[in-house]
Amino acid sequence: MAWDFETDPEFEEQLQWMRDFIDSELIPLEPILREITPAEWAPVKAYLQEQVKARGLWGAFLDPKLGGPGFGQLKLALMSEIIGRCMMSMTIFGVQAPDSGNMELLAHGATDEQKERWLWPNLRGEISSAFALTEPFLAGSDPTVIGTTATRDGDEWVIEGHKWFITNASTADITLVVAETNPEGRPHKHASILIVPAGTPGMEIVRDIGTMAHPDVVEGRPGNHAELRFHDCRVPLDHMIGAPGDGFVLAQQRLGGGRIHHAMRWLGQAQRSLDIMCERAVSRSSHGSLLAQHQMVQDYVALSHTEIQAARLLTFQTAWKMDKYGASRVRAELGMIKAHVSKVVLAVLDRTIQVCGALGYSSDLPVEEWYRSTRFGPIGDGPDELHKSVLARTILKGYTPVEGWPTEHLPSRRPAAEEKWRALQAAAGVA
Ligand SMILES: Cc1cc2nc3c(=O)[nH]c(=O)nc-3n(C[C@H](O)[C@H](O)[C@H](O)COP(=O)(O)OP(=O)(O)OC[C@H]3O[C@@H](n4cnc5c(N)ncnc54)[C@H](O)[C@@H]3O)c2cc1C
Repeated sequence: MAWDFETDPEFEEQLQWMRDFIDSELIPLEPILREITPAEWAPVKAYLQEQVKARGLWGAFLDPKLGGPGFGQLKLALMSEIIGRCMMSMTIFGVQAPDSGNMELLAHGATDEQKERWLWPNLRGEISSAFALTEPFLAGSDPTVIGTTATRDGDEWVIEGHKWFITNASTADITLVVAETNPEGRPHKHASILIVPAGTPGMEIVRDIGTMAHPDVVEGRPGNHAELRFHDCRVPLDHMIGAPGDGFVLAQQRLGGGRIHHAMRWLGQAQRSLDIMCERAVSRSSHGSLLAQHQMVQDYVALSHTEIQAARLLTFQTAWKMDKYGASRVRAELGMIKAHVSKVVLAVLDRTIQVCGALGYSSDLPVEEWYRSTRFGPIGDGPDELHKSVLARTILKGYTPVEGWPTEHLPSRRPAAEEKWRALQAAAGVA
């Protein structure tokens, strides 16, 4: 009976180190983080990253055969939950999007020479990367239709197109651009992935887009989302990852485990938010009693705790299944947890803001910023509607249509029930 909810003691030690490290080295910086310039941050970031590397916890999402420590999804899920408690932890642990997904893609699709050039430096944190799929004038949720093209001209690919919402593209050293090279291969074998190094003529960074997370965007900062135009943008043939037409399948490599890690990071944030809610509830009084004694506030606390625990178990189970059976067997579940947990975290953040009142709405607490940043969850990485639709279709495949009454129609089942009853009576020796 192998049904075990305990963590191996050695790995629990690693997790405890992570909790202590994040609580003592990273969370204390939050109140001043925005005032630290990228140049001031760089050496301190490297110092913190070295400690994570020394502990063997750096870039932990890659399999050993792809150059990583090979923890598997369940351990990564446990790590992601801790990383999610503090937004800056992702960079310190080398699991920040979009680099992590890009590295998975390169690990699967790049040649040895391309890995030397882009994957290993990205994994070591020496270069950063962006991933450019979404376009302003086509639905990003449907990557079977891509307007950006790449055509071969001698020993170069020439890219023409328009992308937007490309995280880190204005600061990244390389951008992985998804472009159509094989229109005859639509819907799944039409696209390719090309590496465009920063500064390549013909790649114009139009702007960094203001968002809910950063309405007053400071241009050129990591974490921004850029609009890009490509016109006569030329890269050598060896800048294509995989073969022409492989782009769609390669892009899927970015997504599998990433959804588990997203979900667990959101749950780490949700738990920290619930801690803030509970502390406030036991500290402040209204109408003669603590907020914690008002039953509606108790409902918020109980509901939030229950939702977090249920979502954790669902995510852990999906991670366990992925380790046991592989990503292709859990495709619908990966979408299910992404769509479910993105709602749970927003609900918990929203209740925390409510219980903290005006303080919750203010930027004196970190929750309003988390709420604004995390609101991308139901949209990004495929909108939740799409994941729910895949899940529903997967479930429905297990059912066959019936003619006439449903299988469970009680009057129709009556003759069989009477016959069964007579048989059981006879077997029991009842006259
Ligand atoms: C913070 C942030 C960072 C991002 N980073 C990147 C990045 O680095 N690189 C990149 O390429 N993209 C990035 N994106 C873009 C993201 O991937 C897209 O926003 C997402 O795929 C949705 O595409 P869209 O915005 O064009 O919405 P659309 O495709 O126009 O969809 C809009 C809405 O329509 C509904 N809808 C769409 N399809 C269906 C369906 N089949 N069934 C039911 N309803 C549906 C959903 O409500 C959906 O939200 C980022 C987005 C955000 C917000």
